[in-house]
Formats: sequence, C-alpha cells, structure tokens
Amino acid sequence: MKHGLSIDVEDYFEIIFQDYFHESIPPTAEVDRNTNWLLDVLASKNVKATFFVLANIAGQYPALVKRIVNEGHEIGVHGYDHVQIYKIKAEDFHKNIKKAKEEIENISGGRVLGHRAPTFSITKESLWAVDILCELGFVYDSSIFPIKGSRYGIPDTSQTIFCWPNGLYEIPLSCLDIMGKRVPVAGGGYLRHFPLWWTMFAIRRLEKLNRPAIIYTHPYEFENTYPEICITGKPIPAKLKIHTMLQSHNRGRRQKHKLLSLLSRFNLIPLKDLLGI
Ligand SMILES: [Zn+2]
Repeated sequence: MKHGLSIDVEDYFEIIFQDYFHESIPPTAEVDRNTNWLLDVLASKNVKATFFVLANIAGQYPALVKRIVNEGHEIGVHGYDHVQIYKIKAEDFHKNIKKAKEEIENISGGRVLGHRAPTFSITKESLWAVDILCELGFVYDSSIFPIKGSRYGIPDTSQTIFCWPNGLYEIPLSCLDIMGKRVPVAGGGYLRHFPLWWTMFAIRRLEKLNRPAIIYTHPYEFENTYPEICITGKPIPAKLKIHTMLQSHNRGRRQKHKLLSLLSRFNLIPLKDLLGI
C-alpha cells in the first residue's frame, strides 16, 4: 500500500518569535540547510514527497523551491507566515493565502494543488477556509486532524480521504482508535517522541483498515543542536522553556534514523498521488 509523505517547510526560530513574542523575524538559514539535507536523503532513496512551503521562506530561499520542483517533488502551500487560520478573519486569510499561492507558483513555475494550514488550524471555527481554498483553485487540503485536540482537531470528521461539498479533497492526518481513545500517529511530535516500533505498528494497522498513513515532519526536527532561544533584555517564559526542552528531545540523529527506516520499509509518495489526479 502507498502512504503519503509530507514535509512542512518552516523555520523553528521564526515561529517561536511569532508565537511567544509576537515579533516577525526572517526565516533563518537553518531551514534551508535542513530542507536541503532532506532533499539529499530523498534523492538517495529515490522517494518523492510533498513539501508544504511557507511563502516567506520561498521568497527568501527561491533556489530551495526550485530544487524541490526540479527533483520531482510536489510543492504545496503552508500559508504565508505560519499564522493560525482561526486567529484571523476570513478576508485576511483570503488575501494572505492568495498572495502565498501566487508567489510560490511564480517561483516554482508550476501550479500548486495542495494546502496545509499552519498548526492544522482549520477547525470548526475556521471551516470557512475550505470554501476560500476551493475558490482560489486549490484541489486538496490536508489540514484536518480528526481528533479532539487542545489547539486543533475536528473529531467527527472522516479519518480517510474525502471530498467537501464544494469539491475540494481533504486528506486528513492519521490517527487510530485504540482502547476507546483516538490517538494521532506518524507525524511531528507523535512520530518523534513515540518509538519507531509504535509508528510501524500504527502504519501496518492503517494498512489493514485500507487507509494510507499521512506521514509529516519538519526540517528543524533533523537539527542536531539544542534549539537555544537567546533574546537580550527579555525574560524567557516558562512555557517556552518547556517547549524548547520537548523540541530538543529526540531531534537530530534519532529522527534521521526514524525517517531512514520509514523510507526503506514503506512505499511513500506525494499526497497528490494518493488522489490519483
Ligand atoms: Zn507548520
């Protein structure tokens, strides 16, 4: 069975400054370095993936976007600057995502089909985004987590690929029902913090349910060094200290090993190819 592989191309430091200090900083060279590392690995294994790119990263590192496309991967949009959709008005989302799509299409030289919301931020409160995506010419979205999360999730959505009434496809993120609990699997922190055997078990279980796994990761998860946040004259909030501690755990070498294991054991393809379009 074929499973989807997706990479959300975002910069760790840019998001931290935005989420914790409400400051905009340009993406750092770390995102360029780690995305290039991912491209090297995928080329060596002859695997193609979907790269959901932030438009401000595409603007700063156009050569990176060109490399992604030239090597046969799919480019999708991950928003303009990682602001969660439920935090903004529909008209601002329309403006931002239209600009992001146009800029990424101009740099990549091709049509973008797919969208993934920052922090899976299409929830019941921001479902209007689905019609805006369709209106702007997106073919599919992959932002809905069918879980009851504290920041995201629509627990009563389909757990497998479906079509919204407006014709937009939805590729929901992967989860499993285990002992009465809905558990997210195979992506981000759920991939990084849980042991490899668990993720392999989860993917095999999804195969039995005839549901492709939607694997997702981020370039910063492959960085070896501890993500230190140094801001002169500003105290570091306790919540951010805990966040960076969790972020440093299982990064780098361990995450690289997990990715290489998944690449060698499963048949991974770009998300658009799961739709057969
Ligand atoms: Zn993201």
